[in-house]
Amino acid sequence: MNWKIIFCFTLLSMLETSSSSKIYNVDPSGYVLYCPCMGRFGNQADHFLGSLAFAKALDRTLALPPWVEYRYGEPKSVQVPFTTYFKIEPLESFHKVMPMEDFMEQIAPTVWPPGNRTVFCYMPRGNPDSESCNAKEGNPFGPFWDTFDVDFNRSVFYGPLNYDVIHHNMGDAWRDKYSSEDYPVLAFTGAPASFPVQEENRRLHRYLEWSDDIDQRAEEFIRNALPKGAFIGIHLRNGPDWERACEHIDSTPSLFAAAQCLGYRNEYGRATQEMCLPSRETILQQTRKAIKDYSAKSIFVASDSDHMIDELKKEFKRMNVSVHRMPNPVPQVDLAILGRSNYFIANCISSFSAFAKRERDIKGIPSGFWAFPQKPQNIQNSSSRSDEL
Ligand code: GDP
Ligand code: MN
Repeated sequence: MNWKIIFCFTLLSMLETSSSSKIYNVDPSGYVLYCPCMGRFGNQADHFLGSLAFAKALDRTLALPPWVEYRYGEPKSVQVPFTTYFKIEPLESFHKVMPMEDFMEQIAPTVWPPGNRTVFCYMPRGNPDSESCNAKEGNPFGPFWDTFDVDFNRSVFYGPLNYDVIHHNMGDAWRDKYSSEDYPVLAFTGAPASFPVQEENRRLHRYLEWSDDIDQRAEEFIRNALPKGAFIGIHLRNGPDWERACEHIDSTPSLFAAAQCLGYRNEYGRATQEMCLPSRETILQQTRKAIKDYSAKSIFVASDSDHMIDELKKEFKRMNVSVHRMPNPVPQVDLAILGRSNYFIANCISSFSAFAKRERDIKGIPSGFWAFPQKPQNIQNSSSRSDEL
């Protein structure tokens, strides 16, 4: 064998064991790691944008964590590599990032070796006597770190610092207290970010571009399943978990993602039951208006539960508008299709809806919300109701 062949073999075996072909140098400014341990995709995406802003403010490389998914009937969360859903290059144009798999393989053995791993949390969590972050207690906490064979040897409680790098000078505060020499890796039990995403960080969504795989699946569906012409995308969030959440809407005027339409200071009103779980009349009425406004030929429905296909078909048959859904909906493909519709009607309270809404805002294409803006009469009612409280 000549040296060229040996070189090729070495390269090939490196490619096989490494999750990406890229070789990373150690970042002297250090790293941020975290578990997306709260909520499902929509929540995790909100948290991701904040974590990206946090890592940027601290000038540390962000390890892109896998997405944490829950499969029905399985006791442990499943970790899906970040790159299954998103491209890395656009993120790299904003800040230093690397897949967590690559961090564990290439950087951790020297910079963050087993036996000397610290985890950060605001204050002790779980068992109050334990003075520990108990970072692996519960699901998805344990399964997440086990994916990378990580055990922790020490906890640091970072309170009273926080991760609002926008309104406070937190970047400097973190650098002063936890230097990259002493703490090359800041590993957090949860995302160093707020939920919902801060208004200022919404713009970071421009660096989240779907992977080629998700893009292609969305495109294929639009090309093969939908008729030619404009289509309206609608999100119907209506499963039993959501019905329960919506019951609390009156006492939680900014529930979940509500700020995306009501404003971060509720300047455009309070959340209502109808915004959270719109009635059939509202859904049919708003969809009808959108079909007319955009001369749409079809409707694409994304839902976690009831797609209302028969009802929608019946309603719009005479307008010659067809109604479609993915046969086995994959959340990310549903979102990518919603992101490409000519007009999108979102659920203002849902962080899943919020993902598609942000993507469309970045592209400069229009969206609306169920039952919003409220009719003037309703706004008056809700403000007089709150005056009575
Ligand atoms: P939120 O609870 O609506 O704020 O959003 P999350 O993403 O945190 O949780 C809702 C989860 O339900 C999603 O992550 C999906 O797994 C599922 N889901 C909700 N709406 C849809 C949908 O339109 N299509 C699909 N495929 N899944 C959905
Ligand atoms: Mn949720």
